[in-house]
Formats: sequence, structure tokens, C-alpha cells
Amino acid sequence: MSSHILNQFLSENLEDLKNKGLYNVIDPLESPNGPIIKIKGQELINLSSNNYLGLATDDRLKNAAKESVDKYGVGAGAVRTINGTLELHTRLEEKLAEFKHTEAAIAYQSGFNCNMAAISAVMDKNDAILSDELNHASIIDGCRLSRAKIIRVNHSDMDDLRAKAKEAKESGLYNKIMVITDGVFSMDGDIAKLPEIVEIAEEFDLITYVDDAHGSGVLGKGAGTVKHFGLSDKIDFQIGTLSKAIGVVGGYVAGKKDLIDWLKVRSRPFLFSTSLTPADVAASIRSIEILMESTELNERLWENGDYLKKGLKSLGFNIGDSETPITPCIIGDEVKTQQFSKRLYEEGVYAKSIVFPTVAKGTGRVRNMPSAAHTKEMLDQAISVYEKVGKELEII
Ligand SMILES: *Cc1c(COP(=O)(O)O)cnc(C)c1O
Repeated sequence: MSSHILNQFLSENLEDLKNKGLYNVIDPLESPNGPIIKIKGQELINLSSNNYLGLATDDRLKNAAKESVDKYGVGAGAVRTINGTLELHTRLEEKLAEFKHTEAAIAYQSGFNCNMAAISAVMDKNDAILSDELNHASIIDGCRLSRAKIIRVNHSDMDDLRAKAKEAKESGLYNKIMVITDGVFSMDGDIAKLPEIVEIAEEFDLITYVDDAHGSGVLGKGAGTVKHFGLSDKIDFQIGTLSKAIGVVGGYVAGKKDLIDWLKVRSRPFLFSTSLTPADVAASIRSIEILMESTELNERLWENGDYLKKGLKSLGFNIGDSETPITPCIIGDEVKTQQFSKRLYEEGVYAKSIVFPTVAKGTGRVRNMPSAAHTKEMLDQAISVYEKVGKELEII
């Protein structure tokens, strides 16, 4: 017999979400997650994935994965510290350190897990964390897990950061103070002000932590936001994901050798959760090699991002102030935003609406994620659908 209390909790809350139009129905893809996807038999131009470079379906990665399965099987068999470390994992970590221009790196099962792992391995209840208010959910959860005092900082507001860093430092209440930020903020496509953050960190002796999930493979000719600003030796923790531009799944922390050695003995997802599969690791290694050999995909991504932005802007859409290929199309009203996204879908463009509480009230938007894999024809087609639907709903 199942719990009556649980059943009641679930049915009431599910009902409530559905009534408020906040219940998300997931449509499975009937195709790979490429530039064109298929859902319920319909082909759609895909402007919603984080597969920035199109590597998720690249033959070179697929072959690397297949060969590794033949050689090592499908599972790593244990956590990293027992005997789940294959030579492949070590090779991946060496490659990541090279890619990030750091002394060392450690791989985890996901980017989310990195934040569960790394923050609480270093910070505790006697410490404080200065956290940008728009940081990713996994950063927020990772901070909470550490039990450090969390001090929210207004988004990319350097005066606020400086004032709060000063106050925390001068209070004498904390052993260590960390400043933590996304490298690229995925809702607006803006870049963290790392040079100023580093300056403030130096002034107040802060530990610096940058989660560059959306910057790796995109900024710094692929090496990420920290490299983009030439700050590779100034940031203590560089977090990256293998799940977005790299095209596979997994995450990593790159930094000084002592930091990585510490995470190998003290971070819980490394110690208590089975390591990445051989296929994931082999495909990720191949992906990073491709990024290091050539900037071709990276250049195409930026070209496509600029092309889409220009097209939407010249139609009269509000595309915000993105500094990366992420292209929000800000509609404002939540209901209208959802209606807009639905009409795009019916016309063959898959671009998700993002509304409160993910973004501020009245700033509902449809977010477009162009990739290196889109052709100009696909983007032209998407732009013409935007024009049609935009006029129909009187947005332009
Ligand atoms: C997507 C994202 C993650 C999660 O990465 P996964 O590898 O998908 O778990 C973590 N941090 C930020 C900032 C992200 O954007």
C-alpha cells in the first residue's frame, strides 16, 4: 500500500501546476539532437539544444565511443578510487588540463556533479560565498551543501560585489571567502566580468570559482571564458561541462595540482558514485582533440550566431544584449511568450519559451541556441518563420 499522505501531496501539487500552466510536458525526440529534430513525426529546425558545435552527432566522436566499447566494455565498474579509473579517465584529465591551460583537472559524471563536489570539498560552515543572483541551480545547490554563509550579489554588479566582499572580510566572521559565478549566463548570453572579479578577489583575498558550462567551446577560441580574458592563472576553480559544446556528458574541474589532488580524496561524487563510462570518456577526449586542432567549428558557431541575431534584429525583435551566440528574443508577457513559442513550433521551429520564475517577471523570452551545425538555409527558414509569427502576434 502506498502512503496516503504522499498520494495526496502529489495529486494536489500536480493539479496545481497544471492549473497554473506550469506543468512541463516532455516530448521525446525521434531523431538525434542535431540541427533538425523530429518530434511526433514532424521535422523541426532545432534552436534549443546546447550542442553548440554539433559534436553530439559527429562521426569522429561516434567512432571513438564505439572503439572504446569494444576495448573496455560499457561500464567503468566502480567508483574512481576503488578500481573505476581506466587509463582513459587519466588521459581525459590530462587533455582537459592542457585544454584549460591549468596544472591539472578532474572529471566528474556531470557538470551538476562538479558543483556538488567541488564547493563543499573546500568550503564549510565557517566560510562565506559571494554568489551572483543569476547563478545556475547547481551552483546554488552546491553552495547550500557546503553550509557556508551564502551572500547573494546583484547580477554582474561590481559595486555590490566589492561592498559585500569588503563587509564579509572586515566582519572577521569567516575563515575563507569565495566568489562564485557562471562564466556565461545562459538566459541572456552575457559574460561574467571576470577581470573586475579577479581584481576584487585580489583586494579581499577571495577564492575564485567560475562555472563555464556555456563558455567552454564557445569563448576563448573554445578554451572558455577564463582564457578569453587571459586569466588562466588567476582563477582557482574552472568548472566545465562535457555535456554542452563538447557534445557528450560529464563535467570537470580544472585548476592547480594541489586543488585537484584534494578533490580526488575529498569530493563525494568522485568517491561515492561510479565514474564516467568508457564511451563517454573516449568521445570526450576526441571532442577536445578536435577543438584543440582547429577553430573551424567555433568560428562557424559565431558566424551562425551573428547571422541569426542580425536577421531577428532587423525584423524588429528585441534580442537583448547577448555577447555570445545565445540569442534571446524577448517578448515580455508570459502568456504571449508561450503562445509565440507554440506558433513557432507549429511552423517548424523548435525554440523554447523561458518565463518567470526562470527569468524576471515581464521578461519572458524565446531563447535561440544556434550551432555550428546549422546551415544558412536552416537559419533563413527559421528567420522567415519568426517574421510570419511575429507579425501574426503583433510583436513586430
Ligand atoms: C548546464 C550547466 C550545468 C550542468 O551541466 P551538466 O553537465 O548538464 O550536468 C552546470 N552549470 C552551469 C552553469 C550550466 O549551465
